Amino acid sequence: MRDIVILGSTGSIGVQALEVIAANPDLFRVGGLSAGGSSLSLLAKQVRQFNVPIVGVSSGAEELKSVLSGVKVIDGKGASEQIASLTCDLVLNAMTGSIGLGPTLAALSCGNRVALANKESLVAGGDLVMAYGAEKIIPVDSEHSALFQAMSSGRSSDVSKLILTASGGPFRDRQDLGEVKLADALAHPTWSMGPVVTINSATLVNKGLEIIEAHYLFDIPYSRIEAVIHPQSVVHSLVEFRDGSTLAQASPPDMKGPIAYALSYPNRVNGAMAPIDWSSKQSWSFEPIDEKRFPAVQLAKRAGALGSSVAAIYNAANEEAVAAFMRQEIAFTAIVDTIEKVVDKLTARAPSKIRDISDVSAIEQDARMVATEVLKRR
Ligand code: MG
Repeated sequence: MRDIVILGSTGSIGVQALEVIAANPDLFRVGGLSAGGSSLSLLAKQVRQFNVPIVGVSSGAEELKSVLSGVKVIDGKGASEQIASLTCDLVLNAMTGSIGLGPTLAALSCGNRVALANKESLVAGGDLVMAYGAEKIIPVDSEHSALFQAMSSGRSSDVSKLILTASGGPFRDRQDLGEVKLADALAHPTWSMGPVVTINSATLVNKGLEIIEAHYLFDIPYSRIEAVIHPQSVVHSLVEFRDGSTLAQASPPDMKGPIAYALSYPNRVNGAMAPIDWSSKQSWSFEPIDEKRFPAVQLAKRAGALGSSVAAIYNAANEEAVAAFMRQEIAFTAIVDTIEKVVDKLTARAPSKIRDISDVSAIEQDARMVATEVLKRR
């Protein structure tokens, strides 16, 4: 029986993780939950369903207390950090955004292992997180789970390349990207995810962030990490070894697979997802990314190679630009343009080494300010 703590329990990954747990009550129990507070009734429902003794919210604690009796409710800014520090077997960090970094570090500093679904923990704080040791982190994202699984069949010193697959998003074949509307960007063809991740998939910024994460998780230089378009989202990533052999992990696009794997690693959960149906015709295709239309991936590699602080700038600038796009203030193509401008403006003064989370916050604040200026001028 594993005691699991979930941060960001009301988001897409959190909800699916609880579905995995509900289907396997003999394997897992929930030791604590945290959420931002935008879905209080769902959070209360989760607490009741899983008999959770302690819950954290950043807002809405009073309302939550009034509907839950006998449950400890922690509120305020550090709520997720406190929940992350509970004694447990595994903390699943399913928060969205760079606010997830603090709780990841809090969990690790207490000796907890972390199933990481919060991309920004590695993108903004890769050096800080990996200082606790790679064995403390189990990736949840489908691509990194695939790489993690494929890598286990060889020595990491024999890996020549990591190849991340990308669905290509809804605009893979669209030429008039400047005309894309918000509703188009929110409709993803193969995966169902939260709104920010969905827009990041459409710009391919998501793949850029994932390359940065892969660099930290597997300690492979950016020059040996690539992304390839694979519209069917069945092959979740590939590892090439130095003898020319390539290993892939394949399954239908269903996050419950990688979530269950991360929760139970190194064990596997019976029937965590439906396997590939070989009785129907399968065709999997792969094609290179059109870097002219989708410059986000190369930009991420360039930013990442300049260091952890420039990766944090890439991410913070994107968060600001996506927010502006969601307010329908800027064109779709302006998202990556903005990131590039902010990265170029700030690279020279970005610190070469990040010492702690306050360094990350300072860099992000700087990047958000410059991004706001760039966005205003559009
Ligand atoms: Mg992914």
